[in-house]
Amino acid sequence: MSNSSNFFLNNFFELENTPCECKKETVHTAPGVDPSFVLKVCANPNANSLHFSYSAQKGLNLSGNAGGIITENILGQLLAIKPNDVDGTISFLEKYGFIFPISSEMYETIDGTVLLEILNRIKATVKLMSAIAGKKDYKAILIYTTYLLFSEPIEMKLSSITYNTNFHEFTNLIRTYNIIPDLHRNQEFFDTECISIFDTLKGDFEKLDINEIAGMSEGSGVTGLTGSRDYYFRNLFCLYTTYNMANDNLRNIIDFYYNYQKKVSIIKNVEPTRITYYSSPNKENFSDEMKEMLVKIAKIVISEEINANLHNICPQLEINALTPTWKLNSLLEALYFSVFYMKPGVELYKECENPNCKHEKYFLINATVTNKKYCCPACANAAAQRRSRQRKLNK
Ligand SMILES: [Zn+2]
Repeated sequence: MSNSSNFFLNNFFELENTPCECKKETVHTAPGVDPSFVLKVCANPNANSLHFSYSAQKGLNLSGNAGGIITENILGQLLAIKPNDVDGTISFLEKYGFIFPISSEMYETIDGTVLLEILNRIKATVKLMSAIAGKKDYKAILIYTTYLLFSEPIEMKLSSITYNTNFHEFTNLIRTYNIIPDLHRNQEFFDTECISIFDTLKGDFEKLDINEIAGMSEGSGVTGLTGSRDYYFRNLFCLYTTYNMANDNLRNIIDFYYNYQKKVSIIKNVEPTRITYYSSPNKENFSDEMKEMLVKIAKIVISEEINANLHNICPQLEINALTPTWKLNSLLEALYFSVFYMKPGVELYKECENPNCKHEKYFLINATVTNKKYCCPACANAAAQRRSRQRKLNK
């Protein structure tokens, strides 16, 4: 067997990336308003190109020309960057190159917020996969799923490609769909002042009464339901009551968010790691049926995110040895492809429990290993010493 086919057996895929220069410009738009950031990025074709490879259990690595690993676990390093950390993101890009192919002749101008959002989405996808593996963390599942479904779609335009994050049918509908129930031709409403909607969460018909239908249809909201005048909640009501769909997945998403918000609390704002509500959430109403449906929705969202980011990857046969390879187009694809190869429920990314971790922060472990808390022996020692100091202080 030749070396190259061994290489393909050991490495699931490879990618060459060009190092880049990345300059930050601070834009002050108005007094008292936080500044925004524009990045000027340019590929540096004179520097040695960066070679990435993916192997099982080790994740995505930066390797040398001879195949030796220079840096392990690139995805774990990305996960450790905080959602709004522009400088941390720049140093990641300067180390590993830009996430898409860029010009080497001129600076390309990148909106800092757009770049952070694209990276926040892949982080949310990986953390969501980890949250559903092993012992389920429902709060995390809800936050990441909701962030991926509800946040504003964004677009990055570069000289060679345009990338868009509008992957989910629901994301588009919740912004646009506003058809209210037509009561004039509704015999049930004429007879009973109610309309029945088949609800997949309940597994039965849900009856909506005249107060709810009128309040939601007119836009004045429902008495006692704080936040029910919210624009997205109203569109969700329209989807729940009048949208005809053949797609079960979409119906589950709509039914979950309608029930969750009616019974727990209406969502005011969604950020990468946090949801805010119009009123204090009634957590006791977050039922087991809702949790089960949420996990199903999380799986739909993960698969849509990953599929959308992989669809330009092609299998290819290398000419000389006729060995099979994958042709990847960007570092972002390589990052998503390494999520694709993570075995759901088998491998997951865990955050090191040493608060001062300077090592891997997020490390890849087997989902069945529940007692590994630290990324390395040094962090385990540091945490043990910290605990013993704390015990002495408390004496
Ligand atoms: Zn650590």
